Amino acid sequence: MKQMQRLVSTFLFLLVLSASTFALAEEIVVYSARNEQLIKPLFDAYTTETGTKITFITDKEGPLLQRLKSEGKNTQADLLITVDAGNLWHAAREGVLQSVQSDILQQNIPEQYRDPGDMWFGLSLRARTIVYSTERVKPTDLSSYEALGEPQWKDRLVLRTSKKVYNQSLVAMLLAEYGEQETEKIVRSWVNNLATDPFSNDTKVMEAILAGQGDVGIVNTYYFGRLLKKNPDIKLALYWPNQESGGVHVNVSGAGVTRYAKNPEAAIRFLEWLSSDKAQNLFADANMEYPVNLTIAPHAYVAAWGDFKASEKNLAIAGQLQEAAIRLMDRAGYR
Ligand code: FE
Repeated sequence: MKQMQRLVSTFLFLLVLSASTFALAEEIVVYSARNEQLIKPLFDAYTTETGTKITFITDKEGPLLQRLKSEGKNTQADLLITVDAGNLWHAAREGVLQSVQSDILQQNIPEQYRDPGDMWFGLSLRARTIVYSTERVKPTDLSSYEALGEPQWKDRLVLRTSKKVYNQSLVAMLLAEYGEQETEKIVRSWVNNLATDPFSNDTKVMEAILAGQGDVGIVNTYYFGRLLKKNPDIKLALYWPNQESGGVHVNVSGAGVTRYAKNPEAAIRFLEWLSSDKAQNLFADANMEYPVNLTIAPHAYVAAWGDFKASEKNLAIAGQLQEAAIRLMDRAGYR
């Protein structure tokens, strides 16, 4: 009898061992344009929970896309993580992603934040909104993106360069809303109101406003969050424009399974996990963003910036109209 028991327990031990070895054998390779500090905690949490090993490389968007293209079928990458629907759309267009059918992703991610062809999925939200000097601007002076072109903002507007995809996406979404003529008018009126040459990043836009070089600007919410964290008394505030019309321009960080993924099923499971209750706050909070899964509340720190109506247009437009937006900004003299 004793022997029988020993045999059974040995058998069970081996069963557990082989099961865990099997689970550990699963591995995903991620190419990420997001910083290690933002994604590594998620990878670690997933590995702890599931045993799936995640190896990754981080680089800028351009080199990663180039690498995926040149590696072709030989790529080790299962998943591409990057920011901005314009970039995700571009990656899909370049043929490095594959279509993914998943009820979980469809359920967790609102339609406007994923590709209509299921090539990419938003995982967190950031708003590109108006920021203003609380010393020199009253929120009642503000109303919409287009109103930043009104005479009252002459020599007071601060913008980031039009070379950045964030602004290309914003203008592409304006194009979808207002059409070519009206949008060009808007962008020209912005250029006419510029306080100074466009800056290379959003933080410099806000620093210029703090320094009194200008009074209003357009930035992504998490850059404001970073400044605010360093200085809670900062003389800046966010404003939610276009609440009576099309809503605030929001964009995503997101991911897509690569076309030649060696382990697509595991990559899809990881994507599904990233869209779940468990991971959404971890993903969004790391960069002071909003969960893309709208049933989940943002971190209190982010929620404190207030509720707003977001644009409900599908973000694929940011890609589809990106080239038109670039040409338009060029014509309008927005550098
Ligand atoms: Fe950014």
